[in-house]
Amino acid sequence: MIIVPEKEIAGLIGATESFTAVEQVFAAMSRGDAYNFPVIREAIGHADALYGFKSGFDRAGLALGLKSGGYWPGNEKLGLPNHQSTIFLFDADTGKVKAAIGGNLLTALRTAAASAVSISYLAPKAAKTLGMIGAGHQSAFQMRAAVAQRDFDRVIGWNLHPEMLSRLADTAAELGLPFEAVELDQLGAEADVIISITSSFDPILLDAHVTGGTHIACMGTDTKGKQEVDAALIARATLFTDEIAQSVSIGECQHAVASGLITEADISEMGAVINGAHPGRSSEDELTLFDGTGVGLQDLAVASAVVDLALAKGVATVVDF
Ligand code: NAD
Repeated sequence: MIIVPEKEIAGLIGATESFTAVEQVFAAMSRGDAYNFPVIREAIGHADALYGFKSGFDRAGLALGLKSGGYWPGNEKLGLPNHQSTIFLFDADTGKVKAAIGGNLLTALRTAAASAVSISYLAPKAAKTLGMIGAGHQSAFQMRAAVAQRDFDRVIGWNLHPEMLSRLADTAAELGLPFEAVELDQLGAEADVIISITSSFDPILLDAHVTGGTHIACMGTDTKGKQEVDAALIARATLFTDEIAQSVSIGECQHAVASGLITEADISEMGAVINGAHPGRSSEDELTLFDGTGVGLQDLAVASAVVDLALAKGVATVVDF
């Protein structure tokens, strides 16, 4: 069994390799070569935590396994990330456990890679202003992966807790971009690409806020009941997702479906755009929206890449198990 501890991940994989792994697995899902198993996610009634499993099988890449983990909101006070995850891979031919890989950084990288893939394929070509809603742990990863996809010249941002906005300002500075904290109507009017990455249970970005050709990547909603954008905004957008079954049940589209504004048929797979089966954006004026619900296959894709890289660099520990 191969063990790749959390502390080794940063030295092995970054945004570029994660982008490729996620792009390939979205394409495999849409071809029917890879599928996710039903998600288990429970409020465990302890430490206010949500815990569960995301799992799947990629027949093309022979990645079989699961990510075990969840969200502990009190962790930041303990000096730990709120998300805690470990990925386990199994041999697809025998079922024997193959690898255990630290999943915290990989979760951030694969989530940022998903919105980056959507921006790469769907954002207006001339996008210049990146709008960020949310300033938590994931937001910095999201911004770093996004800026590589278009020639952005500024970042604007909003967060419910303004004291956290310094994370966005610092990340933009690291990327050499000016940052401005703005109200939501200005963000919706000026941003060409908007990423939402919050823990919200109520709509933040309203239909009236968003004007002109825009791409929105909704990345925070991964559980029943969560919501970041107005259902009317969903209904107005051309919709894409990682997996339609998750989008309508635990993703951002759940509310618009429940209120009858859209149906499953209105949502397209991101993989269909990557495979060329869907044209994607049809004009610079269009409103496109990617509902990034987070699928187990993303975790398996980046974890498989890490195992190969760890073996090649000699930093994996191999134990007889
Ligand atoms: P975090 O705890 O570090 O930050 C939380 C963010 O949400 C902060 O910006 C905070 O101000 C904001 N927030 C908290 N409560 C809010 C509320 N009621 N209304 C509006 N904003 C609120 O979390 P993080 O690690 O940055 O993750 C952010 C979200 O992304 C989480 O909800 C997490 O479950 C989700 N997530 C999704 C995926 C995916 O694949 N889709 C992957 C990882 C994380």
